[in-house]
Amino acid sequence: MNVLVINCGSSSLKYQLIDSETEAVLAKGLCERIGIDGRLVYQKAGNDKEITEASMPTHKEAIQMVLEALTNDKTGAIKSLDEVNAIGHRIVHGGEKFASSAIITDEMIKTVEECNDLAPLHNPANLIGIRVCAELMPNVPQVGVFDTAFHQTMPAKAYLYGLPIEYYKNYKVRRYGFHGTSHSFVSKRAVEFLSLDKDNSKVIVCHLGNGSSISAVQNGKCVDTTMGLTPLEGVVMGTRSGSIDPAIVEYIAKKENLDLAGVMNVLNKKSGLQGMSGVSSDMRDLRAAAAEGNEDAKNAIEVLCYGIAKYVGGYVAAMNGVDAIVFTAGIGENVGMIREKVCSYLGYLGVTIDAKANEAMGEEVVISGADSKVKVAVIPTNEELAICRDTVALVK
Ligand code: ADP
Repeated sequence: MNVLVINCGSSSLKYQLIDSETEAVLAKGLCERIGIDGRLVYQKAGNDKEITEASMPTHKEAIQMVLEALTNDKTGAIKSLDEVNAIGHRIVHGGEKFASSAIITDEMIKTVEECNDLAPLHNPANLIGIRVCAELMPNVPQVGVFDTAFHQTMPAKAYLYGLPIEYYKNYKVRRYGFHGTSHSFVSKRAVEFLSLDKDNSKVIVCHLGNGSSISAVQNGKCVDTTMGLTPLEGVVMGTRSGSIDPAIVEYIAKKENLDLAGVMNVLNKKSGLQGMSGVSSDMRDLRAAAAEGNEDAKNAIEVLCYGIAKYVGGYVAAMNGVDAIVFTAGIGENVGMIREKVCSYLGYLGVTIDAKANEAMGEEVVISGADSKVKVAVIPTNEELAICRDTVALVK
C-alpha cells in the first residue's frame, strides 16, 4: 500500500510517499512560502531534488502541485493518483480527546476543532491539509496521527500543574507533551534493538532537535514528559526558553515595556540556545563558536546538557530505575559531545560510555560501555514512517 504522509504547517507542508510493504520512501519534499509566493521541493528516490518556484496562494494549490509532481510523466514516483491508497496526517494537538491515531471523518474533524484553542497556530493548519486532501482525493481514506496521543497515558500526578483545579476542569490546562510520535517510535524500537522485555522495561527518550523533549516510558507507556500545555516547557531548545520561573514574564514585560504577546514571542523565538549564545539556534554554529572560545556559546551548551541530565535523574526517580537512555533527533543523533556531556552526570547510575561508539552520527548504535549498568543508545527517529504504520493499521 502507498501512503502519502502529510505534515501541514501554516505556511509550509512536508510530504513523503511511502510504500508500506517495503517501508521505502518513494518520493519526498516540501512546499514553502504558501500564501506568500510559493516553492515546491520534490525528490523522487534515487534522483536529485527538483525545486520549482510557483504561485501557491493557498494549501490547495500546494497540495495540487505535490500530486502533479508525484504523477509527473518524467519524474513522478507513481503513474496515477489511484496508486495513493491512504493519507496519514500529522496533527499537533489532540487534547484529551485522542489517545491514539484515528480515521478521519466529519465527526473526528469536529473533535479536533474542539482542541484548536490548545494549538491555535498548528491545528487549523493541519485541518486545512485534511480538507484539501478530502476534496482532491475524495475516495482515499485519511488518518490523523497526534503529537500528543502517546503521552495520554501519563498519570494525573504527572500531568496536573499546581494551579487552581478549575483551570484544569474548565479549560483543560494540564501537561500534554509533544513529539509523541517520535517518543513512541523510538521507545518501541529501543525495546527491540536492546532486547528489553517490553512489559518490564524503563526507557528514557531524549528527543533533541530544534525543539527538544524528554520522556519516561515504562512498559511501553509514557509516564512523564518535559513539554507541557504547549511545547515551550522543558529543556532549553533552539529558540525556546524551556522551563523558567513564571514570574520572569511579568518582570521582563515591565523592564522591556512589552505586552504578553511580546514576552511570549521572546520566550518562543528569541530565547534558548539562540538567545543565550547570541550566536545561533543551530548546534553546529554553537559548537563552532564555543570552539573559538565564545563563553556565552559554551554556557548555552553546558546549560542544555545539565538540564537534560536533571530531567533524566527525575525520570529515574519517577520509574524507580532505568534500563535504557536513548538519544534521537538532529542533536541526539549527530552530536556525540552532547551525549557524552549528559552521560557524564550519570555516573551514579553506573552509566559508562564507549568513546569510539559515541562518534556515531545518524545511525542506530549502542554507545554505552560493556560495563555500563544502563544501556545508552542512539536511535534515529522517523516520524513519517510511524505515521505511515499507524495509517496502514487503521485503514487495513
Ligand atoms: P526539528 O526539531 O526541526 O525536526 P532536527 O531534529 O532536525 O530539528 O534537529 C535540528 C538540530 O540538530 C539543529 O540544532 C542542528 O544544528 C542539529 N544537527 C543536525 N545535524 C547535525 C550535525 N551533523 N552536527 C551537529 N548538529 C546537528
